[in-house]
Amino acid sequence: MIALVSGGSRGIGRAVVQRLARDGFDVSFCYRSNQDAAEELAKEAAGHGTRVLAVRCDVADPEDVRDWYARTERELGPVDAVVTSAGITRDRPLVLMGQDDWDGVLRTNLDGVYHVCRAAAFTMSKRRSGVIVNLSSVAGLYGNTGQANYAAAKAGIIGFTKSLARELGPRGVRANVVAPGLIETDMVGGMPAAALERQLKGVPMGRLGRAGEVAALVAFLVSDQAAYITGAVVEIHGGGVF
Ligand code: NDP
Repeated sequence: MIALVSGGSRGIGRAVVQRLARDGFDVSFCYRSNQDAAEELAKEAAGHGTRVLAVRCDVADPEDVRDWYARTERELGPVDAVVTSAGITRDRPLVLMGQDDWDGVLRTNLDGVYHVCRAAAFTMSKRRSGVIVNLSSVAGLYGNTGQANYAAAKAGIIGFTKSLARELGPRGVRANVVAPGLIETDMVGGMPAAALERQLKGVPMGRLGRAGEVAALVAFLVSDQAAYITGAVVEIHGGGVF
């Protein structure tokens, strides 16, 4: 089985690469700039005896994504599972949110998912099998102060994925969303300490989630155990929706 993971060099995507490699998938993952982290991960994940491909690719660039996808199929074979985890934040109150902040986040977080899923939809439909898991966020479901751009992109991912589930279900392809709350990664590490503390107070489990815990959910959704789950949004947030 072959998996393709966007944003695999760090955080949740990295944990997904590690988990799927452990579960026996050959994995192709992309990163934007952290080549050292990507190469280290590729070496480590290949230790599970599977083939691992690390490719530099900006998911906001359709040509980059086409090249990555084609290279993956050429070097590993047809893709069975797609996980989109590449994402960025540019948090500001709306009154200070410039066009660049808006465009940057929408292009990476929403257009990026479109580019990757579009590449996958062709071959998956043709093969009449495949599974897609897109990373959204509780911000996409409930909104979040200072994240109008991010929340809009993450809400967009939900409508997009539910539409894919309807379009591709008849062709044997499943598509689901994972919507995490606060997960301990660089993305959350970049939040102001006071804001993080305030948000953590709203988490009944009283701690940040771990990237591996999100990866375990993703691994379940791509597996045959989830064969009848499609068009779902699965939340993972320790009870905290802020
Ligand atoms: P990190 O910031 O830890 O990692 C982001 C990853 O995405 C990196 O591998 C980065 O590559 C890659 N990336 C960013 N932009 C691009 C791009 N244009 N093209 C290709 N790759 C790119 O983020 P997380 O792991 O925390 O987040 C993963 C996903 O989960 C995101 O979609 C995020 O929105 C979502 N999420 C995260 C939550 C959290 O609390 N952490 C909560 C809810 C949702 P590089 O290393 O090269 O920069």
